[in-house]
Amino acid sequence: MSSTYFIRGATVVSIDPVIGTVSDCDVLIQGEDIKAVGPNLEAPNDAVIIDGTDAIVSPGFVDTHRHTWQIQLRCVTCDFSLFEYFLHIRNKFGSCYLPEDVYLGNYCGALESLDNGITCLVDHCHILNSPDHSDAAVRGLQDAQIRGAFCYGLYRNPKYAWTPDGVLTDAAEPDWRLDDAKRVREKFFSRENAATDLLRFGFAPAEIERSSLEQSIKEVEYGRSLGAAVITAHASMGKYDKGYHLVRRLHERKLLKPDLLLSHCASLHDDELQAVRETGVSLSSTPDTELQMGMGQPVAFKARKHGCICSIGVDIVSNNPADMFQQMRLILQAQRHKDNEAADGSPLKVSHTCFDVLTLATLGGAEAMGLKEVVGSVTPGKKADLLITKCTSTRMTPVNDPVAALVLYANASDIDTVFVNGKMVKENGQLAGIKWPEVRKKLVKSSNDIMERARAADMDEITHRVLSVYNPVGGYNAKNAHI
Ligand SMILES: [Zn+2]
Repeated sequence: MSSTYFIRGATVVSIDPVIGTVSDCDVLIQGEDIKAVGPNLEAPNDAVIIDGTDAIVSPGFVDTHRHTWQIQLRCVTCDFSLFEYFLHIRNKFGSCYLPEDVYLGNYCGALESLDNGITCLVDHCHILNSPDHSDAAVRGLQDAQIRGAFCYGLYRNPKYAWTPDGVLTDAAEPDWRLDDAKRVREKFFSRENAATDLLRFGFAPAEIERSSLEQSIKEVEYGRSLGAAVITAHASMGKYDKGYHLVRRLHERKLLKPDLLLSHCASLHDDELQAVRETGVSLSSTPDTELQMGMGQPVAFKARKHGCICSIGVDIVSNNPADMFQQMRLILQAQRHKDNEAADGSPLKVSHTCFDVLTLATLGGAEAMGLKEVVGSVTPGKKADLLITKCTSTRMTPVNDPVAALVLYANASDIDTVFVNGKMVKENGQLAGIKWPEVRKKLVKSSNDIMERARAADMDEITHRVLSVYNPVGGYNAKNAHI
């Protein structure tokens, strides 16, 4: 049930260029919407009053690249290269998830997001091993009441002799996922798939740079035929880029459109960035995994100079938490370091500001998902996806610059309240209405069960299989899709 809330006397970091950052400012939330923002507003009689003293109101974070299902695999990839990630996650653990594991992964992944102030995410879901897995994945997100796009992934987790029963469908039809995507689209999402729907249907082709161009085009066009709000794919991954130039090739065929959201993209050439800008394609940088795994310098700031729509993603929670503070810090300081190193003599100014990166993590993400008019800033008329961050902890006292405090000082424990669509999902520092100890118990059991199933995996066989299609020096062998 949504109500009327009146936040009184907060510091509002709106990200809205007209409103800006305003101290001693009120915010009125009615139903799903932000109704008014400004000093000395009148509170309606029926409003729940929230004291905004020593608190910052800011837009919820928007995460544009996540494989939400991996929460049971926490810490597994922290010392992995991308190659090792392929071996263990995409070829072993991905073949060990039952539908109930997928449900818990997506449900708890969404709860983790809300707790950390991420109110909207793109779930690039490539754990759809059967129709039951698909249903579980959507339900997990819906039950957590997070905003976002569920992107139906065509990736095939491989089947081995040791794969446990119930994990992978034995559907005879190799393209069964195409029909299943249509089924999921019709079963769980509104016909309009409207921008204001809390969860929208999206689509994720199988690894687009490892398929033939014709196959990739077929998949992208199929997603479009289903009315996908977002079509997302990994592309141009730094040291793992095999010179495929997918963006250039799609541009030549006039297939780049604003529904495309490409993740990573560090090795896009200038002509490709130009094409991205001209066609309204969006980009997602994932600092933790890109910097760790050889995917190159995050492209966001460079692409922004080209006028592209840029945003930030958490990517895999098997490697790092769903924490946008961490991602903002990494991408900002990595870029400053790069620019400082490139400067002649001592740099007298930093190249990018805290405000720049906070914009990427909020309004940039909203724009990348086609939701610029719906969320991403504290603006009257937008949906109320908001954070109230307390400035009373040891790390947040005093605050001389609220934007810098959010970017370089705050963490999830400072977030007192989170609204999604006008509903309070975190209250007094706790997830509202969630019995976490009970949920946690189920999650731990699910993780233990997956680890147990994975023990049967034959890593020699997996490594042999992956190496048969992967050349560690020269990149992928394009002739062999779907490692
Ligand atoms: Zn990814």
